[in-house]
Amino acid sequence: MYQTVNDPPPEISHRAQPEHKLKLMTSATPYFCDGCKELGYGVRYTRDCGGGHSIHLHTHCALAGDTLVHPLYGYGKMEFRLLLEPPSAVQGRACDGCGEPTLDYVYHCFEQDLDIHPGCATLPQRIVHDGRALELRWKASRPCVQCGDNKGRRSMFWAYSSYFDGEVVDLHVACLKENARISWEATYRNRMHERYGKISLVVASVVCSLVFGTQWP
Ligand SMILES: [Zn+2]
Ligand SMILES: [Zn+2]
Ligand SMILES: [Zn+2]
Repeated sequence: MYQTVNDPPPEISHRAQPEHKLKLMTSATPYFCDGCKELGYGVRYTRDCGGGHSIHLHTHCALAGDTLVHPLYGYGKMEFRLLLEPPSAVQGRACDGCGEPTLDYVYHCFEQDLDIHPGCATLPQRIVHDGRALELRWKASRPCVQCGDNKGRRSMFWAYSSYFDGEVVDLHVACLKENARISWEATYRNRMHERYGKISLVVASVVCSLVFGTQWP
C-alpha cells in the first residue's frame, strides 16, 4: 500500500545505533517495526542480535529523511521533524494521517502539535490503479466505501477519494491499512498452510495410529 522506496541499499547503519548494520531482506513473516511499532510485511531492514532477538525496520522508517515535506501541509510550509521517540510522555498520541497510535518514530510538527507515521508520510497524493485515480484528502466527505461510516473516529482522518462507476467514493486511510493487513495475513496463512499442512497431516496420522490404533481417515 505504501509508496516503495526506490533502490533501497542492501545494507545501512541503524539510525539510533550507527555502529549496528541492518541488512535488506524479504520475508513473508509479518513483524513489528522497531521504529514506528506498526506491523510490517515483506521487504525490511533486519539485524540478528543473537539469542533469538532481531531488530526489524520498515524501509520507509529506516530510510526516512530528517524532515518531511508533505503536499497536504503546503509542501513544507509546516515543519515536520523525524523524532525517534514521542515528543512528550503524553499517552494516547495518534497519527494525524490515519488516526492510529504513534509510538517512537514519528514526524512531528512542534508548532501545530501534529504527528504523522513515517509510513503514512509516504502515502502518495495520487494513486493511479487500473485506469482509476485515487486522490488523498484531509478526510472523507461521504460514508467510507469499506466501513460505511461517516461520523466515527476514522472519518476525522485522511481518506482516498475516487470515481467509481460515475460516483465519487471515499475510503479511509485507516480502512486501507486494515485491508492491506488482512490481505497480507491471508496470504501468509495460505503459505504456512501449504508449507506445514502436509506435515500436520503426517503427525495427525501417526498420533491417530498410536493413540487410537487406527488409520487416519
Ligand atoms: Zn516502521
Ligand atoms: Zn498513520
Ligand atoms: Zn472506513
